[in-house]
Amino acid sequence: MQSRRGQRGVTAWPETRGYLGPAGKELDAGNARVGGVQKFPCGCHIVNIWMAYLDVKELKEVLNLDGSTHLNVFFANSSDEDLAGVATWPWDKEALTHLGGIVLNPSFYGTFGHTDTMVHEVGHSLGLYHVFRGISETESCNDPCLETEPSMETGDLCADTNPTPKYKGCHDPEPGNETCGCRHFTHTPFNNYMSYADDACTDSFTLNQVARMHCYLDLIYQTWQPASKPPPVPMAPQVVEQHHNAITLEWFPPISGHYYDRELGSVCDKCTEGRVLLQYASNSSSPRPCAPSGHWSPREAEGPPDVEQACEPSVRTWSPNAGIEQGVVGLSECPLQGCMLQLEFPYPLVPDSLTVWVTFCSPEETALPAIHNILLLTVSGDNVSLGPSNVFCDAPLTLKLAVEEEVYGVQFFTMEQHLEIDATLLASKPDCPLCWPCQPLRYRLLRQPPFSHGSPHGLLLSDSTRRYTDSTVHMRREKVPDKEKRRRIGAIGFLFCKEIGAVG
Ligand SMILES: [Zn+2]
Repeated sequence: MQSRRGQRGVTAWPETRGYLGPAGKELDAGNARVGGVQKFPCGCHIVNIWMAYLDVKELKEVLNLDGSTHLNVFFANSSDEDLAGVATWPWDKEALTHLGGIVLNPSFYGTFGHTDTMVHEVGHSLGLYHVFRGISETESCNDPCLETEPSMETGDLCADTNPTPKYKGCHDPEPGNETCGCRHFTHTPFNNYMSYADDACTDSFTLNQVARMHCYLDLIYQTWQPASKPPPVPMAPQVVEQHHNAITLEWFPPISGHYYDRELGSVCDKCTEGRVLLQYASNSSSPRPCAPSGHWSPREAEGPPDVEQACEPSVRTWSPNAGIEQGVVGLSECPLQGCMLQLEFPYPLVPDSLTVWVTFCSPEETALPAIHNILLLTVSGDNVSLGPSNVFCDAPLTLKLAVEEEVYGVQFFTMEQHLEIDATLLASKPDCPLCWPCQPLRYRLLRQPPFSHGSPHGLLLSDSTRRYTDSTVHMRREKVPDKEKRRRIGAIGFLFCKEIGAVG
């Protein structure tokens, strides 16, 4: 997922789909007109009758609808008459909050030629770009996103949508002058919901698009799914031992941040194997002159890592570069004592380790490490200085901590203007008291054919167990060549791993 424009907060992607907006113009989110009260699903929430207009964010603040369990669709007239809809990307921090969702303009919604607008916006919500992204949404002919042939790496990141310019007709565009060389676009995906073609011909998503949407549903929007399923283990269980009548499997814990049947955001949701509490920073600040200018604000260092690509600069990070006035990026210096980022965690605890994700590599030739001090903030006030650290973008910095005090936050000091901090994780020691009331994590192991001694719902194993020996398998050893035998064992292993998942 790439934010090619380097823009921060493209939370709302305005649409001029199907309208005669100025060609190539991407309109900013328009104002929602409160005057049309009957158009609002909840007109009763409008509190200030003197205010003629709200912007989209104000509208969402007023309505304050929960976005964590479902997708909200707002209807609001727009002062921008061309605006058909805006949607939140799944990678926006707002995606699962009351500030996420889709805003549709009721002046157009459902009218002739605009019946697919909501489908298109849901596509954006689930991580789909426009099919013309690689041609009409590139910044220059050197833009690495320029799509010359269908590809997973450029354009809309789907290999089964041919490159196309923005076009409203229900046919391939006529040959014309393209800014980046004269090209004739054929077999263009004009019938795709993510095109700007008229509803008369939009009728489909491609398989790659469907796969992208499923990815975001699984990765980001798990809580939108009515029956949450146990998160799968990240890799197929491995056969570590095998005998003629027994097979032993081993697996890794689930990588998903959310465990089945635990309330999202609760302390138990953060308790992992061995009652280790893992928490990302939830509160951030940075004193002036390292205060935010909008981009690279401290808030970008909250939550789990979310940059588009490791080792690439990203505005989804905190950086001292933000500490300067708007419009003069790159000119400000950190003060003598350095720029400082302070992060706080939801639950003070005795930590075992601190992990920091950055997009920046310390240049080898510099004498000073990029982070010249890390200070652990303790509840008692006896803060602990961890000293300087070099950082690398291709692996998070993990510091094992020998601290016996409860830590509630951390401060990073840097002189490096280009340092970018993406996320910070504080892990408790095992058997953290905060996790004691939580259901232990267990694994459910299913087999086909089912275990004879178990229920049809399989075996439940405690979280300390990530290894299981099944002594009820019977392999015919005789008359089976070695190669054939390996194949059969492999097949049994596969049947195991298909079904294994962790439950709360
Ligand atoms: Zn769109």
